[in-house]
Amino acid sequence: MHEVDITQPDLFDVAIVGGGVIGCALARRFTLDGATVVLLEKAPDILDGASKGNSGILHTGFDAPPGSLEAACIAEGYREYLEIRERLNLPVIRCGALVIAWTDEETAALPGLVDQAIRNGVADVEPLTAAETRRLEPGLGAGLRASFRVPREYLIDPWAAPHAYLLQAIVNGAWLRRGCEVTGGDFDGTAWRLATTLGSIRARVVVNAAGLYGDILDERLIGRRDFTIRPRKGQFVVYDKPAASLASHILLPVPGKTTKGIVVCRTAYGNLLVGPTAEDQEDRREAALEPETLRALSRRGEEILPALAGHDVTAIYAGLRPATEFKDYQIRLHADRNYVTVGGIRSTGLSSALGTARHVHGLCAAFGFSATPLAEPAWPMVGMMCETEQRDWQRPGNGGIVCHCERVTRREVEEAITGPLAAGSLAGVKRRTRVTMGRCQGFYCTADLAAMTRDRLVVPMAGGGHGA
Ligand SMILES: Cc1cc2nc3c(=O)[nH]c(=O)nc-3n(C[C@H](O)[C@H](O)[C@H](O)COP(=O)(O)OP(=O)(O)OC[C@H]3O[C@@H](n4cnc5c(N)ncnc54)[C@H](O)[C@@H]3O)c2cc1C
Repeated sequence: MHEVDITQPDLFDVAIVGGGVIGCALARRFTLDGATVVLLEKAPDILDGASKGNSGILHTGFDAPPGSLEAACIAEGYREYLEIRERLNLPVIRCGALVIAWTDEETAALPGLVDQAIRNGVADVEPLTAAETRRLEPGLGAGLRASFRVPREYLIDPWAAPHAYLLQAIVNGAWLRRGCEVTGGDFDGTAWRLATTLGSIRARVVVNAAGLYGDILDERLIGRRDFTIRPRKGQFVVYDKPAASLASHILLPVPGKTTKGIVVCRTAYGNLLVGPTAEDQEDRREAALEPETLRALSRRGEEILPALAGHDVTAIYAGLRPATEFKDYQIRLHADRNYVTVGGIRSTGLSSALGTARHVHGLCAAFGFSATPLAEPAWPMVGMMCETEQRDWQRPGNGGIVCHCERVTRREVEEAITGPLAAGSLAGVKRRTRVTMGRCQGFYCTADLAAMTRDRLVVPMAGGGHGA
């Protein structure tokens, strides 16, 4: 991996600040298009911000505001994900979604949403009566009025995708600097000199993909902010794997003005998810879990799928959306300073990332920025964690299973800490392999994992005992 100072180029074409899903997709796009790229991430590993905890839905954009930049980026991101996913070994669960009305008011809103979907180019939506809906999802609770089906809403692995994007960038020449916070910078009319916690880095173009810190980075680099990030917390309850059989579709509510609402869906890892909430807060870092809110989520989940009441909860988590005072994405070109802000990628960044990256790359033409696309880029494959696909534990030579709950093999852990995008922390190993993330939450495998990773992580595991 390119994390050593001595051979680093003196001047990069593009410096991308932020290793969330958007930064990873940007690094891939610019690298494949022939630029020399460095991605700067302040945390010990990538995916430490908004991209750490989401619902894992590959949205079609059926409910995006028609004509918005968000709608355009989702449509393009969705298309490209399906085009490239097999070459990068990324999964897709083609389950479709049901948008379900439970009240008269919600029922009245359905035709408008169907119309909106059609205007967004998602023309294959199917209005369904209550009986038709129940035939598709027999486990739904009482009070169901009607729904419409969005056949191409899918589930994906929210962590494998950004890892794959950045891995492809790195094996094709991009640089990654972790533990590297951008603290300031100057543009001399031709190039930037960024001040970072790892020294200065020069680049012709800077792209701000700092997610929850996007406005702060703008202030540091261009001395102004055009939006203010207002983190919007989403808490989730994750049910144990047997609950996944209760729903075959993604079960969506009729969306509200500020949120898509509480979703019930499977995950790529074979669990069932209920969430997220939408709670505005000041804190950009901590997404505290609140027992009463989580109980309310479980109660809502059990109203939607009554049989959920008999199932165990495996985990709870929360993520923070980089929301702003605006509904649409805040992508702004500062052509006089070779600078682009990619901010406010609130609720749909996993789906839109590849499309957003293409859009931003196109904007950079304004800088007279041009490079020759790589003729034959390498296509590395990431590990497959999706329950509906063949996993490593089913293949020979895997060294045996380390984490029995999630069936993570010794080979998978080894690859996670040695590959070209090696994990920098336990959190990074978890996001690459799901080790310790199952039913026992690491009770049985933590000691083994600590032994395997000793002296090999930038942030060492706290100890050999339970509680990772
Ligand atoms: C609860 C929830 C559910 C969601 N569900 C879905 C879904 O189902 N489908 C979907 O498509 N999207 C979903 N999303 C949205 C998606 O997760 C976000 O849009 C996306 O993660 C935003 O990514 P980002 O790269 O813009 O920001 P981030 O992930 O926050 O990345 C920014 C990175 O920049 C780094 N950084 C910040 N400042 C600096 C600095 N000065 N120097 C260096 N590094 C810096 C941070 O450490 C961070 O790693 C959901 C989001 C949440 C929170």
